[in-house]
Amino acid sequence: MKQDADVIVVGAGAAGLMAARHLAEAGRKVLIVEASDRLGGRINTMFSAGFQNLVEAGAEFIHGELPFTIQLLKEAGISYIPMSGDLLQYNKGEIQEQSDFIEHSQKLEKPLNDLAYDMPVEDFLNNFFSGQEHAEMRNSVTRFVESYEAADAKRASIMAMKGDLTEDDDEQYRVDGGYCRIINYLAEKCEALGCMIRLSDPVREVHWEEGKVKLYTSATTYHAKQVLVTVPITILQALPDSEYAIKFQPSLGRKWQAAKMLGAGMVIKFLLEFKTAFWKQNNETKNMAFIFSDETVPTWWTQAPKESTLLTGWLAGPNAGNRKDASEDVLLTDALHSLANIFKLSPAFLKEQLSKWHIANWQQQPFTYCAYSYATVGGHEAAKELNIPEAGTVFFAGEATHVGHAAGTVEAALASALYAVKEMLKTNFA
Ligand SMILES: Cc1cc2nc3c(=O)[nH]c(=O)nc-3n(C[C@H](O)[C@H](O)[C@H](O)COP(=O)(O)OP(=O)(O)OC[C@H]3O[C@@H](n4cnc5c(N)ncnc54)[C@H](O)[C@@H]3O)c2cc1C
Repeated sequence: MKQDADVIVVGAGAAGLMAARHLAEAGRKVLIVEASDRLGGRINTMFSAGFQNLVEAGAEFIHGELPFTIQLLKEAGISYIPMSGDLLQYNKGEIQEQSDFIEHSQKLEKPLNDLAYDMPVEDFLNNFFSGQEHAEMRNSVTRFVESYEAADAKRASIMAMKGDLTEDDDEQYRVDGGYCRIINYLAEKCEALGCMIRLSDPVREVHWEEGKVKLYTSATTYHAKQVLVTVPITILQALPDSEYAIKFQPSLGRKWQAAKMLGAGMVIKFLLEFKTAFWKQNNETKNMAFIFSDETVPTWWTQAPKESTLLTGWLAGPNAGNRKDASEDVLLTDALHSLANIFKLSPAFLKEQLSKWHIANWQQQPFTYCAYSYATVGGHEAAKELNIPEAGTVFFAGEATHVGHAAGTVEAALASALYAVKEMLKTNFA
């Protein structure tokens, strides 16, 4: 039977491209099949959307000196810029400085270190910090888990969040020239190594037996010896009769069960460019990096240290889920009202100041339907299950399959790819 490649990689996000590059470097003939009409997946730097500068509709920050991301940037000669500016919070009508992304984290350390078994974040807070005197702290932790982790505190694992909740915050960076430079670099490497890339070709079914894979897409059928599936967790969780599911034959029930154990975090990202940086008129906010609030769109940030009139809003977790089907008009009104309350300006003034906007509702994004995964109670074992190869033939990677530090990030996607490649290269079908 004709082979199109040794390996087919499903998905051309950070994980898929990283894996393809390393498989090709190891001498494998690689075909990448991507459903959408562009590379990058949840990395989506927009250049020509009418904004004055590039904007990041998906991933934006490098959360610390993350080894695989930094190594890749250094290899590609791409610089990264530390974020700077004040962390602020808007609370009861006042804007105040906030010392850290999460407040009161030192109080969490002892009960977390003593914890004998895992539980959801909400249960942990109710068990250990139930009194009225802890109300502010409960709110701050829940806000962090729902916003930063895009997680539901009723399901998120307190053990998995421990590091993010208690460790000192690392410096945050942005990729100079946009996150897409990582994607472009990997794609160039892949092409130079002879990888073939098919865009706009959603995979529908994977038929497999040991050493043989037949992959049905909307357009055609491909044959290979191994397949690496790097799609978002929501696609793996989909029921077989869902329009975006990938059906496996024989079916992979354990993998589906494992995927269902993991959380799919929801995010709506608001990119609002104004005629002026109105927040700079105010002493309290002139050096603002981030501001956190309890408004409908609670979190906002600037492009500091870069001069820019862009404000980015962030609505995540269950509150984003509740607005999944909201129209863009409704979401924009929410955003402007939230800003109006925080900055004590009128929504009409802000609307008049608005020069360009884009709302990235990732729950509605075809072939993605989420922002990033989060660890639930039991999720650790689930991610491990996704890492177990099926007969040396079917493999999974992507941020949700990563077991370890930096969950949900580009780093996790890159790390998962390297792990999968190592496993794939253990088998060499003739
Ligand atoms: C709004 C937002 C903000 C974020 N911010 C950050 C941040 O600041 N820092 C950070 O590190 N991370 C951030 N992330 C997370 C980060 O973007 C992801 O963890 C990472 O990009 C995931 O890469 P991946 O390769 O695992 O998946 P993806 O990038 O999703 O790639 C999977 C690919 O599979 C394709 N696909 C799906 N179904 C099919 C099919 N049937 N057939 C073929 N192809 C298919 C998809 O189109 C996609 O291109 C953010 C994500 C979002 C959405």
